[in-house]
Amino acid sequence: MQIKFMLSLLLGVAFFSCQEKAKEQPIEKSEPVDDGVIVYEEYMGTEPSTPEETEFYEPVVPKVTPTMNGKPPSDAIVLFDGSNLDGWMSSADSTAAKWHLNKDGSMTVNDKTGDIQTKQNFGDIQLHIEWRSPAEVQAEGQHRGNSGIFLDGLYEVQVLDQNDNPTYVNGQVGSIYKQHVPLAMASVPSGEWNTYDIIYHAPEFNADGGKIKSGTVTVIHNGILVQDHIELKGTTPYIGWPKNPPHGKGPLMLQDHGDNSRVSYRNIWVREL
Ligand code: MG
Repeated sequence: MQIKFMLSLLLGVAFFSCQEKAKEQPIEKSEPVDDGVIVYEEYMGTEPSTPEETEFYEPVVPKVTPTMNGKPPSDAIVLFDGSNLDGWMSSADSTAAKWHLNKDGSMTVNDKTGDIQTKQNFGDIQLHIEWRSPAEVQAEGQHRGNSGIFLDGLYEVQVLDQNDNPTYVNGQVGSIYKQHVPLAMASVPSGEWNTYDIIYHAPEFNADGGKIKSGTVTVIHNGILVQDHIELKGTTPYIGWPKNPPHGKGPLMLQDHGDNSRVSYRNIWVREL
């Protein structure tokens, strides 16, 4: 009887000690192991011996008709196609956008009428936008063809006529204004159309308004990578450091720099990510 009791006690202790050990030493997945190689959970287990074991058919990828003959992709939200400014309003007072609508399917900053922004708000987006500085060059530095594209209405991708026009590099064309210098100056000649293709992921904030994840921006200027998934440090003010006000979805805002920039825009569309 005493032997049986002792045996059950020993087995019990061994069982609980194993349980404790299992709790203490969870199997780490997706973490570097001793030799520095990261082991991903989906690649653990027995090494596949057939090609079919590593081929998947779900989820089915949505079909998108890409840009063709100047038309936006089939799943894009068209923000400006040249026919009207209905999707836009004055940033200052939410009245109708007062910029010039041109016969060639573009719009031009109407000097000193203020910034304009989309009526619709967005989160993470892929943005296509085309812009042109005037062929007739006026002024120097930041006063030549200055406008800007503000993601979530807060983070400026600089638009500037940079041709033979030096300025501070963190404020030149393709910069994230006063934050990230572009990797290249990829402008076409003044008076010709530039394209920006931008991937934007918005920052995330907790319930107390603290930033828990930075936003990121990638900018391709005329097919050239000029911002490579940069981390947004905050807003992009003319004077002062970046700030991090909490926000949700926001508009796309276009800048009236207020110095007769005469910058034009056309073919603006986004794909929500
Ligand atoms: Mg600007």
